[in-house]
Amino acid sequence: MNLPNPHTPVLTSRLPRVGTTIFTVMSTLASETGAVNLGQGFPDFDCDPALVNAVTAAMQAGHNQYPPMPGILPLRQAMAAKVEALYGLRCDPSTEITVTAGATQAILTALLAVVHPGDEVIVLEPCYDSYVPNIELAGGIPVRVSLTPGSFRPDFGRIAAAITPRTRALIINSPHNPSGMVWSESDMLALQALLAPTDVLLISDEVYEHMVFDGQPHQSAARFPGLAARAFIVSSFGKTYHVTGWKVGTVIAPATLTAEFRKVHQFNVFTVNTPMQHALAAYMVDPAPYRDLPAFYQRKRDLFRAGLASTRFRLLPGEGTYFQCVDISGLSVPERDLPEADFCQWLTREIGVAAIPLSAFYGDGFDQRVIRFCFAKRDDTLQQALQRLARL
Ligand code: PMP
Ligand code: GLN
Repeated sequence: MNLPNPHTPVLTSRLPRVGTTIFTVMSTLASETGAVNLGQGFPDFDCDPALVNAVTAAMQAGHNQYPPMPGILPLRQAMAAKVEALYGLRCDPSTEITVTAGATQAILTALLAVVHPGDEVIVLEPCYDSYVPNIELAGGIPVRVSLTPGSFRPDFGRIAAAITPRTRALIINSPHNPSGMVWSESDMLALQALLAPTDVLLISDEVYEHMVFDGQPHQSAARFPGLAARAFIVSSFGKTYHVTGWKVGTVIAPATLTAEFRKVHQFNVFTVNTPMQHALAAYMVDPAPYRDLPAFYQRKRDLFRAGLASTRFRLLPGEGTYFQCVDISGLSVPERDLPEADFCQWLTREIGVAAIPLSAFYGDGFDQRVIRFCFAKRDDTLQQALQRLARL
């Protein structure tokens, strides 16, 4: 910029340690190099055309002005019906469900609503990259607790040890990005027992709730009364209906928590785009799309895992989500010894497949020789990636 007044105001960053997200970095590199993008988590296939038609119909019907602040009632009612049918939780759509601009906004808004400066918020690492900066923006102190190394299972001894009188909230995420692990019923019961004598709130990030494989049920916090009573339960239509770019999600929380959530939400985004809400409400009448999603993604997981099984990548378990983690330490190439992040850059540029280093999900950049692939891709995309990966 060539401005007449050269004085530049001094600015102290609110997030001094934050750069551009790894997902944006790797997607940009994949498109610059023409690599198959198995990095950032999003489908490379389209959503159901009926859903797109429903948006068009909503726009043509004149649903183009501000919706009510908490979201249109039919969508909140559809969510309430679904959560009761699937998880047995009865919630009031008028006071306990809010439509958000995706899960990312939901989590930030929940934190801004409940965290006072100096409050501690526990995250379980590796964790989605927005959590810690969100806690910091709310003035909170992130407390990082490691999931069990190797298995990524929750370690309740470590979680218990991290709880102090300053702990305001704990963020959990099952099915888990990036590891693909899924919390069991006994995990959720252990968490319920642990939190029972405390005032710790729970933010349960359940955006992959319909991607749990091998016949396991999703153990939503909504199934556990002691957790639901203290939880913001976060869902995202982006994952469930293959529309990550729509950025529409929901938060379910008891009325007292929802009231605080909405105080922030109304001055944060105020509302979420109207035609998409109408389309989603109409589309949700049919349970088939989310009922059939586990089988849809399980087939892709199996295809991708079968292809990787004959390579030197070591497969980690994958119980849920559309991510598959692999250990790179047994590869035949010398680049296997690069730090994970550099290895992913090399893999994208030289082998033509983009992936995400697990170190990006740790505050201290912990490097365990593991990278993450996204298999929410057309079969031919996965086959092309597998052909390239077989060279290693
Ligand atoms: N949480 C997790 C664990 C995620 O993987 C994602 C995916 N982007 C989000 C939250 C954000 O979802 P949304 O796109 O609805 O904001
Ligand atoms: N959740 C997606 C992932 O983990 C990416 C979302 C984003 O780009 N912020 O890949």
